[in-house]
Amino acid sequence: MTHQRQTLRSLDDLIASGAVDAAQGHALKPVVERFQVAVTPAMLGLMARDESGSVAQGDALAAQFLPDPREAMVAAEELADPIGDEAHRPLPGLIHRYEDRVLLQPTHVCAVYCRFCFRRETVGPENGTLSDAQLQAIYAYIAARPQIFEVILSGGDPLVLSARRLRAIVAAIAAIDHVKVIRLHTRVPAVDPARITPELVQALKWRGATYIVLHVNHAQELAPAALSASAMLVDAGIPMLAQSVLLKGINDDATTLETLFRTLIANRIKPYYLHHGDLAQGTGHFRTSIAEGQSLMRNLRGRLTGIAQPAYVLDIPGGHGKVPIGPTYVHDCAHGLEIEDPDGARHSYPPKPQG
Ligand SMILES: *Cc1c(COP(=O)(O)O)cnc(C)c1O
Ligand code: SF4
Repeated sequence: MTHQRQTLRSLDDLIASGAVDAAQGHALKPVVERFQVAVTPAMLGLMARDESGSVAQGDALAAQFLPDPREAMVAAEELADPIGDEAHRPLPGLIHRYEDRVLLQPTHVCAVYCRFCFRRETVGPENGTLSDAQLQAIYAYIAARPQIFEVILSGGDPLVLSARRLRAIVAAIAAIDHVKVIRLHTRVPAVDPARITPELVQALKWRGATYIVLHVNHAQELAPAALSASAMLVDAGIPMLAQSVLLKGINDDATTLETLFRTLIANRIKPYYLHHGDLAQGTGHFRTSIAEGQSLMRNLRGRLTGIAQPAYVLDIPGGHGKVPIGPTYVHDCAHGLEIEDPDGARHSYPPKPQG
């Protein structure tokens, strides 16, 4: 195996690197023609290999980043816009679904393309990066709405932008007095940690609070380089949270999730959301049932420190927003309420405050 220096972006690249078996090339053609592909050297280097040097079947990183023939199978319930972004888009590059926060997509490019991506129909270079005029229109929209407290930079992945471009975006947002928080959703600290430079960290500092939400699904993604990149951000005063997607065959067991959440919290990254898989096209092989997700959350409740517990959430198809869908511990019964403890035993609780 040679050390890969560049991001793999085509089927030929994947075959040449041993990531994909040449015999599979034919079945993968329709998939790579339809959906973006990118695998960074950092992620390729962490994939397990078998004796022949090929990427091992069932590897948690291979399953997330290498195209799979099953992506060509689109189920009837799967949607091109699974979370309803288009229903709340006042301007190109801006989604305004909740009153107090907007989601700004300065670029649609990502460092890697996740096979289960909920925005898989729009990510990639053809939708490109916003022009200055488009950004100015977005800043004017935000400036005109004092209820906007937070600007979320998402995409795509905002940390593929240069430090110079990020500094300009942060400065423009900082000039709008009523915005107090900038949040970035990114995979870069883990999948391309070399991008986290002192210059980039400095570009994210402003008068308000910056938060980074790292998208990470398996502890295997958190190699030493990823943890050092994250530590640079946290040391600079940028709190980090993590969001994960529940993925069949990758992290849908309690031990894998526990290891992921412990690794995160031990490295000052707070697990924030565990997303139920969205109804994105060609992603059925990744989805669990909601009952399975609830059972995993219930399993973690007793055994994992509370600060490492994320909320299990669903982004309701159609643009209706995200809501917690975790297990309930409150049960109605004849005498009032029963509250279930982490071991499954129920305890009665008075239905109304006394007096
Ligand atoms: C997920 C999302 C947010 C952020 O939601 P939080 O619950 O605050 O994390 C904001 N806007 C849009 C359009 C989203 O999809
Ligand atoms: S990094 Fe995020 S937006 Fe980009 S492909 Fe992965 S899930 Fe989709």
